[in-house]
Amino acid sequence: MSTNYLEFLVEDLQEIHRKMDELLASKMAPEKAAALSQAAHRLAGAALSAGFNEIGQAARALENEIRVNADSPDFERIHIRIAVVENAFERQRTIPGDIRQFQLTFHTKENNPNQLIHIVDDDLNQAGNLADQISRFGYQVKVFPCLSDLRAELKKTIPTAILMDIVFPEGELAGIEEIRSLREEFGDSLPVFFISVRTDTIARIQAIRAGGKGYFTKPVDIDALMDEINNLDIQIDPQPYRTLIVDDSEIQAKTNAMHLRKFGIETSIITKAEAVLDELDNFHPDIVLLDLYMPDFSGLELAQMIRQIKTYVGLPIVFLSAEADREKQLNAVGMGGDDFLTKPIKPDLLIAAVTSRIERYRKLQTLMLRDGLTGLLNHTTIRENLAQEINRAGRNNQPLAVAMLDIDQFKNVNDTYGHATGDKVLRSLAQMLSLRLRHTDLIGRYGGEEFLILLPNTTQTEAANLMDELRDAFSQVVHISHEEEFRVTFSCGVAAYPQQSELATLSEAADRALYEAKRQGRNRVVSAPSFQPER
Ligand code: GH3
Ligand code: MG
Ligand code: MG
Repeated sequence: MSTNYLEFLVEDLQEIHRKMDELLASKMAPEKAAALSQAAHRLAGAALSAGFNEIGQAARALENEIRVNADSPDFERIHIRIAVVENAFERQRTIPGDIRQFQLTFHTKENNPNQLIHIVDDDLNQAGNLADQISRFGYQVKVFPCLSDLRAELKKTIPTAILMDIVFPEGELAGIEEIRSLREEFGDSLPVFFISVRTDTIARIQAIRAGGKGYFTKPVDIDALMDEINNLDIQIDPQPYRTLIVDDSEIQAKTNAMHLRKFGIETSIITKAEAVLDELDNFHPDIVLLDLYMPDFSGLELAQMIRQIKTYVGLPIVFLSAEADREKQLNAVGMGGDDFLTKPIKPDLLIAAVTSRIERYRKLQTLMLRDGLTGLLNHTTIRENLAQEINRAGRNNQPLAVAMLDIDQFKNVNDTYGHATGDKVLRSLAQMLSLRLRHTDLIGRYGGEEFLILLPNTTQTEAANLMDELRDAFSQVVHISHEEEFRVTFSCGVAAYPQQSELATLSEAADRALYEAKRQGRNRVVSAPSFQPER
């Protein structure tokens, strides 16, 4: 998993030796000297960019020596320059451990490349442990042992979070000072968390002044850290806003759609009333813009129809019409519309009206559909989704896997470390599931410490393997409470259509498999036995 960067540089050094041999064999031919100079140039570049300054400067001196005397290379002088380079290597080797390793990258199979975390810490042992833990949650992690290496990396991408150590060889507050200087270039939005052995007020206050979003003492409480990163207000794959436009005039609909699209809002246009219901199902709009007057149906009737369907009770509906009659407008609002916009609508007014309603709608949806502690779908919602997915799987004749998961001996966690720590573990598991499962999978908090996961288009074997990887990852997370470390495991039962041919009993089959996993000793995934048709 790790790469010792020094080994790469040693290869460059060996290349220099080979070129030197060739130079000697050619009796100091200038073109062979030029090849040696190029090898020195490569080593200098690689060493300097990796923070091996002494090697880099020695290699650069060798390169210059040859370049300045390009026509008559001098054996003695070149020989001395090479010796200086070798000497610089020797000195690196006496530095204990792998401290000079550069950019270890940790990732697992399911890592989300958009979810990147940088750790800057000269203690590679600690940084490596932390990186290993974080990577189990589904993040890709890069470790930078040298403070100065972060800047170049930030020029390429800004990660989800930067975890910055404070004490470096450069100084007792060097990590904080570096962040302060980086902010001048990259602005205030850098998502920085400080991690340090320092527990004193001075370090903490300096960290806040440098704009740190959080401060963690080592060893880092991984659950709390994951929670804070999750709270950074970054949405994982945010869904674009969706507007359904119902208008018999295609030109007007397209004009409005164009303004909305420019603002990043997805649109779908319907010109016939009878297509509305299907499109609500397929497109899942966050708002409907409804023309008030259409040839066959009035917008008012359509609005009433939409409101009669339970799922769409809260869906914002805004009427569009050239109607300037105040009384008719009020009437429209009374009939189930939320508001009235008079055509022609100014683009900025349209966008403001649409986005503000979508924001409110999404917040309300979140409150209604999601569990407050974990942010996962609540019991009612995941049950409804299960029914929908069962229908879909039957209709499309696609596999559907269901996993029922329950934390092992969770009562002990509460009893030993307190309810608040138990809550933290629950949130942390929820986050791991959200980060590592696919966006098409649905995750619900089914009960207290029980989770129901729906995996559309997934076979029982695939689901069981996937859940076992998650089980393994979760079991290796080291939780911390009052400086005491502990681990938590879960058990899981998996069932799938069509193996478990009765769709209606899919979740019961997963539940029985879960019970079996508990019976067999916990911390395992059990697959439901395949369906045996009755004779
Ligand atoms: P098993 O391995 O058999 O599942 O053992 P268990 O202790 O996990 O199972 P049991 O059903 O006996 O206990 C579940 C515990 O989960 C009891 C309850 O205190 C705890 N729990 C349920 N919901 C929450 C919650 O929201 N927060 C916390 N901290 N604990 C919870
Ligand atoms: Mg349990
Ligand atoms: Mg339970």
